[in-house]
Amino acid sequence: VFQLSVPLNFLGSVYRELRQSLLDMETLFSLQKVNANIQEKPNAPPLVLSKGGEIKFENVNFGYHPDRPILKNLSLTIPAGKKVAVVGPSGCGKSTLLRLLFRSYDVQGGRILIDDQDIRDVNVDSLRRSIGVVPQDTPLFNDTVEHNIRYGSIDATHEEVVAAAQRARVHDIIQQFPDGYQTKVGERGLMISGGEKQRLAVSRILLKDPPLLFFDEATSALDTHTEQALMVNINGILREKGRTSVFVAHRLRTIFDSDIIIVLNEGKVAEMGTHRELIDRAGVYAELWSAQETRFHDDGTSQNEGEEE
Ligand code: ATP
Repeated sequence: VFQLSVPLNFLGSVYRELRQSLLDMETLFSLQKVNANIQEKPNAPPLVLSKGGEIKFENVNFGYHPDRPILKNLSLTIPAGKKVAVVGPSGCGKSTLLRLLFRSYDVQGGRILIDDQDIRDVNVDSLRRSIGVVPQDTPLFNDTVEHNIRYGSIDATHEEVVAAAQRARVHDIIQQFPDGYQTKVGERGLMISGGEKQRLAVSRILLKDPPLLFFDEATSALDTHTEQALMVNINGILREKGRTSVFVAHRLRTIFDSDIIIVLNEGKVAEMGTHRELIDRAGVYAELWSAQETRFHDDGTSQNEGEEE
């Protein structure tokens, strides 16, 4: 038995590693489509979060095609430990900001600093390990609910998975699935709603608990009531842990309590401040806010409900 257990253990760990690397490959090739566009410097040191995750864009220029700039000389600072929202018209480059931070692409001018380190100078893995992203549409693996949440924190216990799902307000729903946490989801599994999928994605990031959290329309498929309740939980965790977070959102009600709201327009910062400051300014943000509030009160439920991007 003793003799046998060694190779079995060994096989177990090979299996785990293989499984992790398969997931990583999936991430690499199908989910994020990363690395094709960037190059890591030889012997790049790991990212060190000496200030707790301060993000700076300095005169950043970027476009997917040379003849169509998306970000134009963009400069902004996201202080460590703060909740920042990025809003603005569709296509103005909000998701692009997050992709640049994750180094899915590199800037074409200027630089991006995290705690004073140019992100092109640090080890890409260490950068990405520091970041958790809830993208607009989270792909699920053809695997159990539990594995889908655990993805990215493979050593987490079942209790930790459950705690994350509770905070993401999806635990009760999972318990009603045919096999609970062992229910298979994904294309070949149980069909689940967009809102449930989004909450699994939020569970995943809460479990991973990275120092920097980016939410890209992460709650857009939820009804207003569920969205507000989930935001209360997320905000509580972010505040308690002092995490730096960036929220891209259309529904201003989900982000109006941010420490800083950045309004992007035509590749530049059009306005920046707290909700109060931006309302007093009576500019683009104030106009958007009042339009959404009018709709919110008119239909009695919410603006944009169920509306696709
Ligand atoms: P939305 O609010 O609609 O999500 P956004 O502000 O997040 O929009 P981005 O996704 O950052 O906008 O896109 C900015 C612009 O770049 C858009 O015009 C988009 O069509 C274009 N774009 C985005 N990704 C690519 C890509 N991979 N290749 C070419 N163009 C792209």
